[in-house]
Amino acid sequence: MEKQIILFIDSGDTLIDEGTEVRDDEGVVIKADLIAGAGEALRLIHDEGYTIALVADGNTPSFDNVYAQHRLRYCFDAWVISETVGFQKPAPQMFRTAMDQLMLSDTDKNRIVMVGNNLRRDIPGANRFGIVSVWLDWSPRYPRESRGEDEIPDYVIHSPCELPSLLQNLEEAVNRGEALKKTGFSADQIQKVQLQ
Ligand SMILES: [Mg+2]
Repeated sequence: MEKQIILFIDSGDTLIDEGTEVRDDEGVVIKADLIAGAGEALRLIHDEGYTIALVADGNTPSFDNVYAQHRLRYCFDAWVISETVGFQKPAPQMFRTAMDQLMLSDTDKNRIVMVGNNLRRDIPGANRFGIVSVWLDWSPRYPRESRGEDEIPDYVIHSPCELPSLLQNLEEAVNRGEALKKTGFSADQIQKVQLQ
């Protein structure tokens, strides 16, 4: 059955372990390992009926290679790569492109959940765009402190294994008519920021 919640998800150090990347002379990732449990979580979320968009910074062949390697490309309903978009997260164009590919409108924003490891890109990008932010606190390679309100995630998980149950909780909350954003970056505040 199709779910209300729509998952936008980062790749590097969210699904793929960047520490295992093997690159060619042009910097294209040829192969890389998944983070433990990430493949199982992604397949489960797909099988449960969630819509999934990859929203990732990097070059297109790298993502083609690693998701072909792990046979996970079929899990994604949208495929948004910064090289193609011409902007990187936290730019709103990345999230807007994913919404466009899925034919979503602004009224759908309250059920879009962005999951990523990067407190400087994924989290402020989602917060400023007005969608739910989930920080995967897993990577040893990135900052672990928020510098401002827009870098504070709505939810925190420590492994991709936690994602299916988090999404299920959020799905139930949406079905009860609850707002999912927990941080100060409410839709009202975003509107105020945009008007200034
Ligand atoms: Mg990342």
